[in-house]
Amino acid sequence: MTTHFVIIGNGAAGYRAAKALREADADAQVSVFSDERYPFYLRRQLGDFLSGAMTLQEIVFQSRNAYRRERIDLFLMTPITSVDPDAHVVEFASSPPVRYDRLLLATGTEAVLPAIPGRDLTGVTTFDTLTEAADLRDSLKAVERAVILEEGVIGLTLAESLLAAGVHVTQLMAGERFWPEALDETTSARLEALLEERGVVLRRQAAARAVIGTAGRCAAVELADGQRLSADLVACGCRRRPATRLAEAAAIEVGAGIRVDETLHTSRPDVFAAGDVAEPAGADPAAPAGGAFCWQRAWAQGATAAASMLDQRPQAVAEAVRIRTTLFGLDLAILGQGHLPAGGSVTVREHHDGPDIWRRLVYRDDRLVGAVVLGTGESVHELGRLVVEKAARERAEAVLAPPEAAEGDDLVPTTFARHCPICAAELVVHRGTREGAVLRCHACNTDLVVCWDGRHGWFEIRRP
Ligand SMILES: Cc1cc2nc3c(=O)[nH]c(=O)nc-3n(C[C@H](O)[C@H](O)[C@H](O)COP(=O)(O)OP(=O)(O)OC[C@H]3O[C@@H](n4cnc5c(N)ncnc54)[C@H](O)[C@@H]3O)c2cc1C
Repeated sequence: MTTHFVIIGNGAAGYRAAKALREADADAQVSVFSDERYPFYLRRQLGDFLSGAMTLQEIVFQSRNAYRRERIDLFLMTPITSVDPDAHVVEFASSPPVRYDRLLLATGTEAVLPAIPGRDLTGVTTFDTLTEAADLRDSLKAVERAVILEEGVIGLTLAESLLAAGVHVTQLMAGERFWPEALDETTSARLEALLEERGVVLRRQAAARAVIGTAGRCAAVELADGQRLSADLVACGCRRRPATRLAEAAAIEVGAGIRVDETLHTSRPDVFAAGDVAEPAGADPAAPAGGAFCWQRAWAQGATAAASMLDQRPQAVAEAVRIRTTLFGLDLAILGQGHLPAGGSVTVREHHDGPDIWRRLVYRDDRLVGAVVLGTGESVHELGRLVVEKAARERAEAVLAPPEAAEGDDLVPTTFARHCPICAAELVVHRGTREGAVLRCHACNTDLVVCWDGRHGWFEIRRP
C-alpha cells in the first residue's frame, strides 16, 4: 500500500524533507501544504531580493514544474487549520480533511508583534515572506525614512537592504547595547560600529509607544519618552517564536517549541517536527531570545525527519550554530554559548586578526562551550564541531592559527570557508583553487561558482 507523507510548511525543513522522502521512496505519495504564494524560496536571502541583488527567478529555488516532475504534490495558499493525530488527518477551513500515514510539522516561526497602537497602519510591516518582500520592493520608491523596532537578524538584514536602496534607517535598541540577549559585549559593540559606519542611526534605550498615521499610512514612530521619529516604513516582527499553535491544539507536547526526541519524533505516534518549530531534547535553555532560529539547522533537520518518517531511526546531528548570517559582506556566526560573559568557571579568549576579523572562544572549566566568529567563514565549521564535543582548550586554540597565503593570477590566495547559499553547509575552498571553479555542495548537491574579489571569497549559485 502506498504511504502518504504529509508535510506542513514548505521552508528549509519541509522542502528538504519532501525531497529526501521522494528520493528514498519512489512509490510514496508526498504532499506539501504551504500557506504561502510561492514554491520553495531562499528565505534567508530575502534581503538580497529586496535590494535587487537577486531576482524572483533566483530566489525561488524550485519551480512548480520541478515539483510536478519530482511527483511532490505542492498545495500553495492552503493553510492547514488543525491536525487530528488520533484520526491521522489534517484539516482545512473549507475543504475535506486529508489522511496521512506520517506527518511532519515544519511550520517555522511567527512574529512576536509589539502591542502598540498604529500597528495596523499601511507601511507597518514584518519582513518574513517573499510576498512581503515583493510588496516592499514595489513600494520602496516612496520610502525615505524607515524605523526598525526590534533587534535581531531580520532587522539587520532589512537595514542593510534599505540602506542599499537609499533609505534613511533608524534602529531602535531596547537597552544600551545591541541585542544583548544574543551577543556578548564586544560583538554588540562591533555590530553597532558597523551599522553606524554604514549610516544606520542607532537609538539606544528607545522603545516605541505608538505608530502615528496620517490618512491610514504610518508617518512617525512615537517613543516612550514622547519623541517622534518620522517614518514612512516601520518594520517589526524581528523577534520570533516557534509556530506551535497546530501542535498545541492537537495536544502534542510543546515547550518553547514542539518537543521532539533525537529522531525528531513528537509525543504523538507518526507525527514529527523539524526546523525552527522543533525543540529537540536537550536543547540549550540559554538559547538567545529571537535569535535561535537557523536555516542551516532547519535544512539538516529536514533530512533527519525524512529518515525518521521512513523508519530509519537516524540520530539528529547536534548543531552548535545558533546564528549564521552575513552582514555588509561580513560573516557572523554565534556557536553554542558564544555570548556568555567571563566569570566564575567561564573564561574567554578573544583573538583579533586585522580590523574586520575577530573570534571569541568561550570555555567552561577549560572546555569549549561556545564561540563567536565575525568577519570570516573560516574555522566556523571546525569550531562548531569542537563546541559540540566540548573540546579541550588546546584543540580549540589550534584552530586559530593564521591561514597561509599564496601567490597566483586567478588563483584564490588563501584557504577560506563559506556556507552554501542553499543549505548553509560549511564548504572549504582551498588556497590555489581557480576563481570561477565549480564546487558541488556536499550536503545539497547544488553547483556553486567560487568567487574572489581580492579580499573575500564567496559562492554564487550556478544555474543549469
Ligand atoms: C529576512 C530573514 C532573514 C534571515 N536570515 C537568516 C540568516 O542570515 N541566517 C539564518 O540561519 N537564518 C536566517 N533566517 C531564518 C531562516 O530563514 C529560518 O531559520 C528558516 O527559514 C527556518 O526554516 P523552517 O523550514 O523551519 O521554517 P520556515 O522557513 O519559516 O517555513 C515554515 C513555513 O510553514 C508555513 N506554515 C506555517 N503554518 C502553516 C500552516 N498551518 N499551514 C500551511 N503552512 C504553514 C509558513 O508560512 C512557512 O512558509 C532569516 C529569516 C528571515 C525572514
